[in-house]
Amino acid sequence: MAELSVLTPIEYLKGVGPARAELLKQELSVFTFGDLLRHYPFRYIDRTHFHRIAEVQPEMEAVQIIGRLTHLEEVGERRSRRLVGQFVDETGQVELVWFQSIAWLKKNLIVGAAYVLFGKPTLFNAQLSITHPEMERYQSQAAKGITGNASLQPVYSSTEKLKKSGLDSRGLQKLTALLLEAIGSKIEEELPDYILVKHQLVGMQQACRGIHFPQNQQELAQAVRRLKFDELFFIQLKLLKNKMLQTVRFKGHRFEEVGRHFNTFYSEHLPFELTEAQKRVVREIRRDTVTGAQMNRLIQGDVGSGKTVVALMSMLLAVDNGFQACLMAPTEILAQQHFRGIQKLLGSDLATVQLLTGSTSKRDRRVIHSQLEDGSLDILIGTHALIEDTVKFGNLGLVVIDEQHRFGVEQRAKLWRKNHIPPHMLVMTATPIPRTLAMTLYGDLDISVIDELPAGRKPIKTMHLYESSRLRMFGFMKDEIAKGRQVYVVYPLIKESEKMDLLYLEAGLEALADEFPKPQYQISIVHGQMPVKDKDFEMQRFVKGETQIMVATTVIEVGVDVPNATVMVIENAERFGLSQLHQLRGRVGRGGEQSYCILMSGNKLGADSKLRLDTMVRTNDGFEIAEVDLQLRGPGDIAGTQQSGVLDLKLADLSKDQALLTEVRNEVISIFTEDPVLGKAQNQLLRQYLQQRNLGISWEKIS
Ligand code: ADP
Ligand code: MG
Repeated sequence: MAELSVLTPIEYLKGVGPARAELLKQELSVFTFGDLLRHYPFRYIDRTHFHRIAEVQPEMEAVQIIGRLTHLEEVGERRSRRLVGQFVDETGQVELVWFQSIAWLKKNLIVGAAYVLFGKPTLFNAQLSITHPEMERYQSQAAKGITGNASLQPVYSSTEKLKKSGLDSRGLQKLTALLLEAIGSKIEEELPDYILVKHQLVGMQQACRGIHFPQNQQELAQAVRRLKFDELFFIQLKLLKNKMLQTVRFKGHRFEEVGRHFNTFYSEHLPFELTEAQKRVVREIRRDTVTGAQMNRLIQGDVGSGKTVVALMSMLLAVDNGFQACLMAPTEILAQQHFRGIQKLLGSDLATVQLLTGSTSKRDRRVIHSQLEDGSLDILIGTHALIEDTVKFGNLGLVVIDEQHRFGVEQRAKLWRKNHIPPHMLVMTATPIPRTLAMTLYGDLDISVIDELPAGRKPIKTMHLYESSRLRMFGFMKDEIAKGRQVYVVYPLIKESEKMDLLYLEAGLEALADEFPKPQYQISIVHGQMPVKDKDFEMQRFVKGETQIMVATTVIEVGVDVPNATVMVIENAERFGLSQLHQLRGRVGRGGEQSYCILMSGNKLGADSKLRLDTMVRTNDGFEIAEVDLQLRGPGDIAGTQQSGVLDLKLADLSKDQALLTEVRNEVISIFTEDPVLGKAQNQLLRQYLQQRNLGISWEKIS
């Protein structure tokens, strides 16, 4: 047999036969020695620190007690069925309660045996109790064996099936000890020495021992830091390699001229003063586009921060230099809105602008195609229709994509190929992403942030109301409508339960129609199932002010701009995610008037829902909201994370490890700056890493 290594199948480990191997694969996705090595403890029993029952207080976060299980009994029936235990030490007693896995626990917990218990104490009926404690058989000094004198004992997650075959936390601990014995000294270093030294990282072998069997807290901390560093490092290495390749490989158009279009617009057309943030971003774009390298820049800016005008000025810059520009939006409504808005800003003679969407007629399309090819069209605005192969530009210099999260990487790439030298790319998103996540998701883009709203905006006031206050809410709507304002009412429409949701929507509509009768009130309705034509018609009625109330499902989420709308009512708000709520709120507060967001919810709220709604009431800051969102949901639900490697993170936590991520990213940037093709001897490990994963595409060609 070949020598043992991290790649060896797990069945070759001592103590793992075919049956256990099968279980390890199924239950923990552990296929190889390396997989088990990366099944890290989720907690450690600190042998130096145990509580005595007498000192346990209900407000403590968690306690760890050595004691004896003296009693175990199943009580209650059906839904109140539970397992109750008595746990004692020499200073007192505490009640234990389990609601789940009762049969299994009854069979496996041993009354009379000594345990180390870990859990959160609570006070229940004036009696100290712990629900669902973790129970670990107490190991006497003599039995410690494998972990030596370590004061920290690892605790591994396991499953019922694994436990049945002896692989509870302690069983896994034994296997891991055997594993380290077998290959501990063969684990290879992934990082060059100079990086270890520079960032004061312990070696890989030491880190692997340290995370499983730390002798003390310091050793554990060093191991964790090292392993987190690696997780983040290799993601950044891959991302930044792509970026580096782009800059080396692709020449970009040079926008040297700031000419008539840009200047006339700036001095004669712009109806307001740009915010400092807008000016900064325009400068960043100008700096990018004169270098001769291709720009790939993401503009993050909260709803209403004024991204469109920044995009427009960039497009005029392209036009000044003899290029065409296009702007792509994710929906027809948005594309139309951009088209009208931009036409209005530009006036009639500054540049030629056309709109191209799925519903553009054949005749108009033909005109647009020929204007594009002969170069007489400066700016094209549209939807996915822009990507089609029949759309050929004479000389495309800049592509702007609004609301990035709706477009895939593939679509971005298609736009790239619309000119022999790829156009500059400007991607705009109104979904604020925490910095850490942005660095990872958009690691191959440069990031600009518009972190300032135009002056004179009044912060939106947000309230959370329960169903019992519905009449108050209707009254408020009437007051605002009486002042000449308009109101959005949004219902959730979530795929799995679409039928139910439609029922809510219909019931809600009926109530609204009763409360706001014609002809005094007019209501627009827009939802996902409607034909585009009808949607547009209804939207337009609202935009023109012919209707005062717009009832909608989340289709209005993205970008719609009606400055006269001052109230956003969100029904069943507890069913929306934080970022959605924030996007919806951004539909109001676009004019000079005070605007409001009313979150309607049922009376019963889970802890997370409550936190979401409270967060909305507390702050208007999209980045702060995004941080809470990341903490609540983890990165898994955030668009784009699937391909990014973020989900493979076992130790690093993007909501907590910002400092480390910044350190890592800066290191990777400096590596590529000094050695773009990783040709230096000291970087061979990294080059190998990328090559082994087939990521080292054609280094030779560029070096
Ligand atoms: P978003 O960033 O959400 O796309 P928009 O570009 O649609 O925001 O801008 C929102 C509104 O603010 C528009 O009506 C726009 O004309 C206006 N606006 C943009 N920049 C400024 C500014 N510097 N001062 C005043 N109003 C502005
Ligand atoms: Mg916008």
